[in-house]
Amino acid sequence: MKSVRVDPDAKTARVEPGVVLNELDHETQAFGLATPVGYNSTTGIAGLTLGGGWGWLSRKHGLTVDNLLSVDIVTAQGELVHASEAENEDLFWGLRGGGGNFGIVTSFEFQLHEVGPTVLSGPIVYPFDDAEVVLSGYREFAASAPNDATVWCVIRHAPPLPFIPEEWHGRKVVILATFYAGDMEEGEAVLQPIRDVGAPIADAVGPHPYTGWQQAFDGLAPAGNRHYWKSHNFDELTDGMIETFIEYGKTIPTPETEIAIPHLGGAMNEKPVGATAYPHRDFEFTMVLHTQWMDSEQDEECITWTREMHEAMAPHATGGVYANFVPEEVGDQQAAYGENYDRLVEVKNEWDPENVFRLNHNVEPTK
Ligand SMILES: Cc1cc2nc3c(=O)[nH]c(=O)nc-3n(C[C@H](O)[C@H](O)[C@H](O)COP(=O)(O)OP(=O)(O)OC[C@H]3O[C@@H](n4cnc5c(N)ncnc54)[C@H](O)[C@@H]3O)c2cc1C
Repeated sequence: MKSVRVDPDAKTARVEPGVVLNELDHETQAFGLATPVGYNSTTGIAGLTLGGGWGWLSRKHGLTVDNLLSVDIVTAQGELVHASEAENEDLFWGLRGGGGNFGIVTSFEFQLHEVGPTVLSGPIVYPFDDAEVVLSGYREFAASAPNDATVWCVIRHAPPLPFIPEEWHGRKVVILATFYAGDMEEGEAVLQPIRDVGAPIADAVGPHPYTGWQQAFDGLAPAGNRHYWKSHNFDELTDGMIETFIEYGKTIPTPETEIAIPHLGGAMNEKPVGATAYPHRDFEFTMVLHTQWMDSEQDEECITWTREMHEAMAPHATGGVYANFVPEEVGDQQAAYGENYDRLVEVKNEWDPENVFRLNHNVEPTK
């Protein structure tokens, strides 16, 4: 189910659930349009949307669910139902963050926005030894960044990319990945302060096709690697947190592993917690530990490192977890759905009382 149908006048797209993000971007960008989706273009639109969905456009245009206008869904009773703000509103509310709990979505309708097709974006790469200056500069920039500007900080080993001098390949670095959603000339001025932080090894900020930027990170999570990921949300970056990021940056277990600290917030926090089933409307930064390795002999070392760092950051976190970043078997529904859980149970009781759809972050029916 791979169809994408764009209505350029209404600025909407009808998208079938087998579509992956680069396929959606490809079709919408033909009209200079886009909706916020994730940073890795091989991700599926269906799971990403139903769990919330955020990416480079989210500070400006909100979560993917905030841009969902309607769905067609096959329910547990085998009926094809349309859900939107005007029809089956409770089901539509539950689908915007409640995952696969209520049925099988066969079509998503999204609001699109004018984006690019060329956007100011690119990475700035610093030696890991400068991490404290870079992270402090990042925090300062984020504090007053307009919603058009998004910068994400990543601690990792430098990949062998052509814009990074060869002598740095494989050495530990801090990367600030930058993106400006608005006018490029304006973006040059807005992003300048972050480009003035420290002394970079490489600065590749410039005009890039939006679709290219959306695929720029795909190569860093190739199919076949072994993965163990964990995340936290934070409402600020304190000195103590920066110290801990650096401490664990020193012991990153493999060249593929990343400590990613994206700046989010902006439009994502503008809706009330109860507006959609997705509840996390109060954080500015997230941390995603993307631990990756190739050899099963490293399983224990890599998993232990990830758990220890996750635990070390826990006292600073807001406490909620993003359902799309934790495996189903973790089963921490309250942390994933927060104060929206009770309403999700009501929607589940109505639409799937026998829990047909339970292989997910399950909302257990009480009927
Ligand atoms: C490399 C990588 C990068 C990522 N980056 C981001 C990011 O930048 N932003 C972000 O928000 N998330 C990100 N994620 C997390 C991503 O949102 C989740 O992994 C999400 O579950 C992916 O959805 P999928 O459709 O690809 O997966 P699937 O495994 O196909 O689906 C996940 C779950 O969604 C439900 N589901 C899927 N299709 C349907 C359907 N048609 N109807 C009803 N329920 C359905 C099911 O419960 C299913 O188990 C990333 C993940 C990876 C692996």
